Amino acid sequence: MATMIANDCINCGACEPECPNNAISQGDPIFVIDPVLCTECVGFHDYEACAAVCPVDVCVTDPKNVESEEVLIARARQLHPETSFGDSFESRFRKGQGKAAGAASDAAQTPGTPASPSAAAAPAQSGAVGGFAEADVNYVELPPIDGWNIPLRCYKCNGVHEQNVKNFTIGNVIFCPHCHKSTVVRDNLNYHIRTLLNDSYSKWANEQREFVERRERELAQFVERRAKDAAAFEAHQQRERERISEQLDTIGDTYDAAGKPYKKGSRFSWG
Ligand code: SF4
Ligand code: SF4
Repeated sequence: MATMIANDCINCGACEPECPNNAISQGDPIFVIDPVLCTECVGFHDYEACAAVCPVDVCVTDPKNVESEEVLIARARQLHPETSFGDSFESRFRKGQGKAAGAASDAAQTPGTPASPSAAAAPAQSGAVGGFAEADVNYVELPPIDGWNIPLRCYKCNGVHEQNVKNFTIGNVIFCPHCHKSTVVRDNLNYHIRTLLNDSYSKWANEQREFVERRERELAQFVERRAKDAAAFEAHQQRERERISEQLDTIGDTYDAAGKPYKKGSRFSWG
């Protein structure tokens, strides 16, 4: 594996449901990636799904563990024997050249006229959702939780100076750089900052997780609806084919060929 979770993980859990290989789990003290299961999403996406949703950008490449695309797709095939990945599978090694592009270029390279109207009209199949391409979401990122600076107004000289949140621990003495007056951080100030940041980061992560889950749910429903549509259309075509076949059978069966003896009582006989 070449994807790992760095120590700054805030345990939001957004990455876990995104992994197509169930490689991510809650560890102690942070989430971890099982290197035996991670394929860097090769076979599924042309990006690392965990990195795409991580609000603090800590799903990163592990420089000590580099694996080739060949190794990673072999692992995906081993983990998902029920899935046919084909040759034009999704992969971050060839961004934008996965299944959709592969199918399109395959079609472009196939000379000649299609054998049947249905073959001509058949859209290129790409993954579970045909040619559907989902819009990318450019998630806004928050800095690390202790990366904020807070402007502090000196009660003595009214000057403002920026202090990193790490300086707002209870009892810490902060000196104004303008008049050198000291301010002691009391528990109420510490409490306000800590509560604001913890609540905000938690809300941020929950909202993003819910957003991702909702999109996944909607996509699954969309795929399911299209599968039902496809099944209904297949059934319709099957019935049409049978109807055409039956009509042809009838025509052939009842054809009054020249010289065919008329049966008594048949529609063109007089007797
Ligand atoms: S890179 Fe993909 S396969 Fe690896 S842990 Fe992240 S989501 Fe899972
Ligand atoms: S999305 Fe990022 S911050 Fe959240 S649990 Fe996963 S690695 Fe940690």
